[in-house]
Amino acid sequence: MIRDSYWLDMPYAPSDPLSGDLDVDVVVIGGGVTGVTGALFLAEGGARVAVLERREIASGATGRNGGFMLAGTHEYYAEAVEELTDLYGPDGRRLARESWMIALENHDLMAGLMKKYAIQCDYYRHGSYVIAMKRPDRGSHKNPLERIVQSYHLLQEDGFEVAYLDEEELYDIKRSPLLAGALRNKFDGELHPVKYVRGLAAAARGLGILCFENTPVTGIDRDGRGLLVQSPGGRIRTQQVLLGMNAYTPQLDARYERRIIPHRGQVFTTEPVSERLFNGVFYANDGWEFWRQLHDGPGEGGRLLFGGGRNHHIRAERGFHFLRHRSRPGRPVRTYRGYKERPTRAVQRTNDRAFNGAFPHLANLGRSHRWGGVMGFSYDSSPFVGETETPGVHIVAGFTGRGNAYATVAARMLSDRLLGRPPTLERQFETVKRVFDPLRGGIDAENRRR
Ligand SMILES: Cc1cc2nc3c(=O)[nH]c(=O)nc-3n(C[C@H](O)[C@H](O)[C@H](O)COP(=O)(O)OP(=O)(O)OC[C@H]3O[C@@H](n4cnc5c(N)ncnc54)[C@H](O)[C@@H]3O)c2cc1C
Repeated sequence: MIRDSYWLDMPYAPSDPLSGDLDVDVVVIGGGVTGVTGALFLAEGGARVAVLERREIASGATGRNGGFMLAGTHEYYAEAVEELTDLYGPDGRRLARESWMIALENHDLMAGLMKKYAIQCDYYRHGSYVIAMKRPDRGSHKNPLERIVQSYHLLQEDGFEVAYLDEEELYDIKRSPLLAGALRNKFDGELHPVKYVRGLAAAARGLGILCFENTPVTGIDRDGRGLLVQSPGGRIRTQQVLLGMNAYTPQLDARYERRIIPHRGQVFTTEPVSERLFNGVFYANDGWEFWRQLHDGPGEGGRLLFGGGRNHHIRAERGFHFLRHRSRPGRPVRTYRGYKERPTRAVQRTNDRAFNGAFPHLANLGRSHRWGGVMGFSYDSSPFVGETETPGVHIVAGFTGRGNAYATVAARMLSDRLLGRPPTLERQFETVKRVFDPLRGGIDAENRRR
């Protein structure tokens, strides 16, 4: 059993670290789905771009997630409507609707990039099931079925094509005695996140971007000629910086310490199963549990991926508690080793129990990999997108566990702005202006996401 990400368990030759000084139009810090997608869009627009990644491309949350492409910023659409109304007034319903539409657009953009650059990344569009379990778990909604039915009606009223499946229909499909009902969105999908992002990085290199791995950025200075991005092996002069560091942003910019809260997520994969047991992605118990079957064979089958369990260990898994080196107020957290990605016995045991309980007939399956990763949560579940308080330094972060659903649109919006051209997204979203603002809420906004 390997204690690291299954997705990252494949051969890879990283590019050389930065050595010497350079001059480019835009420096992208972070080589996850956000940074690499942003770099690709910028390069397509003709900018000279350098990506600086502290470890290897996709080694952060991007290489450690479930690979779900799941629409929506919240566990339930009904919750998105309520929370956005609470925060942004009577426009909440419209903003929730737009957030859902943005995820659909994000999905189409990703599929378009895969096609354009011939990226093979085990992408399937078999849809999702947001599931109510018969026994709601700790910390989840008391009546999840009610939430799902409400969400189904709200989504239908808002013009989205979703379906409701009752217990019987679900049992026939999913063979678990614990599932009570589900919201089905046939437009959702799944992918191998590392193959995807490394494929994008290869495409971006083909367009001339410079990619430096094992290159930590240690600071951004300003002088009369612009910005100077510092790393141990050299400096890059530029006019624009894109921070694509998500959960790690506060390590470089302490003002984000209160806006982006790190939450660790943990996952395991089983040994391969030759039968196809699940198609699509499954999100249960308010998202505290999620699973899918991979497409890595043999035959039609593949490993099962199961994650969650944070709800039983919330104090250990949320916030800066699990940093090895706590930051002092107002001072940046300087060590990435503080963000522990190693799986913990406690959470993995919880996940084993949940998996074996939901699927007793699969309880004997061996585990192949167990891992953790660090997500960046915002206080209202929507990403921060735009220019920070430092002129020329822009941010895309705070996906609250949904980077595969929002990072591509966010990177597209920001790259359009940096290229100085009108937005190229098909629709003009009001949400983007109101909710994706990088400065909204200020540093004192209460972070109420779980
Ligand atoms: C267990 C788990 C399951 C998840 N499941 C899903 C899912 O199914 N669907 C979904 O949509 N989302 C999921 N997520 C969330 C998703 O992974 C993130 O939202 C997304 O990957 C964020 O991408 P990013 O590029 O913004 O950040 P990251 O992928 O974290 O990339 C940031 C990069 O910045 C680099 N970096 C940091 N500091 C520096 C520095 N000083 N200098 C240079 N480089 C630096 C890091 O090394 C890292 O590579 C999950 C996350 C976890 C942990």
